[in-house]
Amino acid sequence: MESVLKKHFGYSAFRPYQKQIIEHILDGNDSLVVMATGSGKSLCYQVPPLISNKTAVVISPLISLMQDQVMALKQRGIRAEYLCSAQIDSTVQSKAESGIFHILYMTPEKASSVSNSFWSKLLNVGICLLAVDEAHCISEWGHNFRVEYKQLDKLRDVLINVPFVGLTATATEKVQSDIIQSLKLKDPYLAVGSFDRKNLFYGVKTSNHGSSSVFEFVEEILKCVASSGSIIIYCTSIKDVEQISKSLLEAGVKSGIYHGRMASKAREESHRLFIRDEIQIMVATIAFGMGIDKPDVRHVLHYGCPKSLESYYQESGRCGRDGIASNCWLYYNRSDFAKADFYCREAQSESQRKAIMESFMAAQQYCMLRTCRRKYLLEYFGEICAYENCGYCDNCTIPKKEIDVSKQAFLLMACIKSCGGRWGLNLPVDVLRGSRSKKIVDARYDKLPFHSLGKEVSANWWKILASQLISFGFLTENLKYKTISVSPEGMNFLSSCTPDHQPPLLLPVGEEEQQNA
Ligand code: ADP
Ligand code: ZN
Repeated sequence: MESVLKKHFGYSAFRPYQKQIIEHILDGNDSLVVMATGSGKSLCYQVPPLISNKTAVVISPLISLMQDQVMALKQRGIRAEYLCSAQIDSTVQSKAESGIFHILYMTPEKASSVSNSFWSKLLNVGICLLAVDEAHCISEWGHNFRVEYKQLDKLRDVLINVPFVGLTATATEKVQSDIIQSLKLKDPYLAVGSFDRKNLFYGVKTSNHGSSSVFEFVEEILKCVASSGSIIIYCTSIKDVEQISKSLLEAGVKSGIYHGRMASKAREESHRLFIRDEIQIMVATIAFGMGIDKPDVRHVLHYGCPKSLESYYQESGRCGRDGIASNCWLYYNRSDFAKADFYCREAQSESQRKAIMESFMAAQQYCMLRTCRRKYLLEYFGEICAYENCGYCDNCTIPKKEIDVSKQAFLLMACIKSCGGRWGLNLPVDVLRGSRSKKIVDARYDKLPFHSLGKEVSANWWKILASQLISFGFLTENLKYKTISVSPEGMNFLSSCTPDHQPPLLLPVGEEEQQNA
């Protein structure tokens, strides 16, 4: 095995898990490989065909990715090709049937639609493994469910004794067991690496509402531009991509853009300029995804709460692949949380809707987290994390001074309670700030004793306080109806308050929030 590694790839030693996985494949066992991007998963299915002299069939979702891999393998003297449904020329397929390829890539559509006679010819000449790359796409609980993956379960009945290998960079325990079930893996060897990317700094900031928000965000990007290395900005909408790129240009910085509504030529050009360092910044939607292998990305900034923690982990994971210290900052506004319904529209079943909702909630919680972000991420992916403080995220390093907010918390909670807990946050905040809008006067909320008592601080400050009261369990947010009410714990606090006296309530407030106050 080592000599094959040396001869074909030029490497002198295997990385963790690689050898064990290859041995299991050669022994005819199934495996599930969950290892971080860049850890060397591809090698696990590329070595066995060179040893056994049988074909490895690899299912991969992206044609561009397969083309890159095939080219790289050919350069190493390995016979590789790919098959997809769009091909008219059938020579690759007939060559494949004769067993001349070491590695044959296929799209999931092709693999599930190709005839049984193709498989039996290939079986006759010898298949050493069937690998399913990006295997999380098979699970409704994964962050990137693809219908065409679902049909791969048929392959098990055709390729009965072929070792199956599922490979992915992100899968919670639930997704792992879903992959095992869907691919019908038999007593698989589990190779689950650590999710800890030690060179990545994780941090979150809140952004203001409205157009001033883009302006502030661009200022943050400009700070990153000052240091070297590439930057990826992930936005949750095409509109934001365009607006941020425009504002950057107005500030004198050219950036590339990438989103699903661009023509593929323009997208490729943008990608190419970024890879070749002709542009430093890529502003993109999550369409800028799989197959981005640029080692020196120093900053990944997210503008808006991501739709799941899995996708956040993958997108931010494109940072610092070369192992050098890099930064992942997320900017969010509470209004991002209202996107739940939008994301749920993609759901095709109730269980999928639930899955989307749960992943989105985890991302929201990450935004509002007051404890170690790394620990939260690792534990989300089922890793046991012995420490409380990683020393390398904002919550572990940037001191958050605790201030006594008992008076303001009392006002806000009492106001929310008096308004009946039927509203979002805007109305009670407007009441505190003394608004006499028609809605407020009609409901006689201007007669409440707290009306106008909170004028001295901004509406945004009240909202930041509210999000803290939510994360500390004093307020409850109903995400479906977008209403805020006082929780039993909040009621407890209120019952120990009088208008002139409240028990102390210390909450950690970040530097920027103190400035806002
Ligand atoms: P993944 O599929 O897990 O994202 P890749 O298979 O693309 O990762 O591997 C990432 C990089 O590491 C590639 O450049 C690959 O050639 C290299 N690599 C893989 N295995 C080894 C090894 N044993 N020694 C040195 N480099 C390796
Ligand atoms: Zn930490």
